[in-house]
Amino acid sequence: MSYRIHVAEPCLDGNEKIYVMDCLESSWISSRGKYIEQFEEMVADFCSAKHAVATNNGTTALHLALASLGICPGDEVIVPTLSYIASANAVRYCGATPVFVDCCMPHLTLDPAQVVAKITNKTRAIMSVPLYGHPVDLGPLLEIAEEYGLFVVEDAAEALGAKYRGRPVGSLGTCVTFSFFGNKIITTGEGGMIVTQDGDLANRLRLLRGQGVSPTRRYWHTEVGFNYRMTNICAAIGCAQMERIDYHLSRRREVADWYFEALKFHDDIFVLPYQAAWAHHCYWMFTLTMRDHVGVQRDAVIQAMERRGIETRPVFYPMHSMPPYQYDTNRYPVADRYALRGISLPTHAGLSRVDVDLVCRELMASIQEVSSQIETSLPRAA
Ligand SMILES: *Cc1c(COP(=O)(O)O)cnc(C)c1O
Repeated sequence: MSYRIHVAEPCLDGNEKIYVMDCLESSWISSRGKYIEQFEEMVADFCSAKHAVATNNGTTALHLALASLGICPGDEVIVPTLSYIASANAVRYCGATPVFVDCCMPHLTLDPAQVVAKITNKTRAIMSVPLYGHPVDLGPLLEIAEEYGLFVVEDAAEALGAKYRGRPVGSLGTCVTFSFFGNKIITTGEGGMIVTQDGDLANRLRLLRGQGVSPTRRYWHTEVGFNYRMTNICAAIGCAQMERIDYHLSRRREVADWYFEALKFHDDIFVLPYQAAWAHHCYWMFTLTMRDHVGVQRDAVIQAMERRGIETRPVFYPMHSMPPYQYDTNRYPVADRYALRGISLPTHAGLSRVDVDLVCRELMASIQEVSSQIETSLPRAA
C-alpha cells in the first residue's frame, strides 16, 4: 500500500547528513566516537537530568535500566496494561513479573490509586508510561514509591519534550528511558537513552551496557553484561535531531492544534486528546476515541482510511489481552474500552495544514461510508 499520508515520518532536514558523512569519512562508525557523548549530553541537558546513557534502542534502554537496578526473578514490577509491548517484555527479560494496572480517564496513563492495591512484598518498581506523549501524574506516584521503597522507572519512549508541572519528562523518578525509533519525537533510526540524576546508577548502566567490562582492566569482565551500545552514526543523527528539538516539538504542537480546530465541532463523535492542568503534552500521536454511540467498528474506519491513502493506527492492544500475558485474568475495563475505540491520526513534523485538513475530511467521509454500509446490511423492517 502506498499512502498519500503516513502516520509517522522522520524529519531529517537539519545537519543529519553532514554529521553522518563525518562519521563515514573519519571511519568512526562503531560505538566509539565523539557524537555519542555529545548526544548523551544534549539529551541530559534538555531533560534537566544529570546523566544520560545511550543504547541501541528503547527496549534495551528499558531492560538495561531494570537490570541495573537489580530487578531479578521473583520480583514484581507494576506496569500499565495500556502500553507498547516492550514495557512488559523488559520486565520479563529480567525474569521478573509484570503486574498490570488499568489506566484512568481522561488522559489514560496509569492510575496511581490503583497502583497501591497491586503492591505486594515482591514489588520492586513502578513503571510509568507517558502514553502518546501525555505525562504521568508523577507526584502521587513518587509519594507511593517513597512510602513503599520502590523505584520509579519511566518508559518515556513517546514523551521526549513533555512536561509534568513544568518539569521536563526525564527529570523525575529513579530513571527514565527514551526511544529514537523512526516514528518517535526524534529519531536515530534505532536508538534509546536512559537519563537519571543518580551518578552511581549511571555508572552501573554504562558497565552493563558494555558487557560488564572493568573500567580499569581491558577484557576483564566483572559480571554478565550486554552489548546495548549505540553507534556513532546513530548518535550523529541524534545530535542533528537534538539541535532542532524545539522545532520538532513546535511542529507537532501546531499539527495537534490544527486537528483540534478541524475536529472540535465533531465532539459528538470523538473524544479528542486531553491535556491535564498539570500537563504539557508533546503530541507524539494525536489519538482520539470514537464515542460508544457511534456504532461503527474502529478497524473498519482504519481500513476505509487506508483505501483513501491515509495511514492511521489502532491504539495498542492492552498487554494483558495478548498471548504472553493472558495468564492475568483480571479486568482492566478502561484500557480495554479505549483500545477498542481509539485511533491515532498521522502526527509528524512534516505535515502541512492542507494535509491535516485532508486527514480530517477523509476521516469524516470514512465514518460516513462505514456507517452507511452497516445500515444497508441491516434487515429491512417490514
Ligand atoms: C517505542 C516504544 C518502546 C520501544 O522502543 P524501541 O526503540 O522500538 O525498542 C517502548 N515503550 C514504548 C511505550 C514505546 O512507544
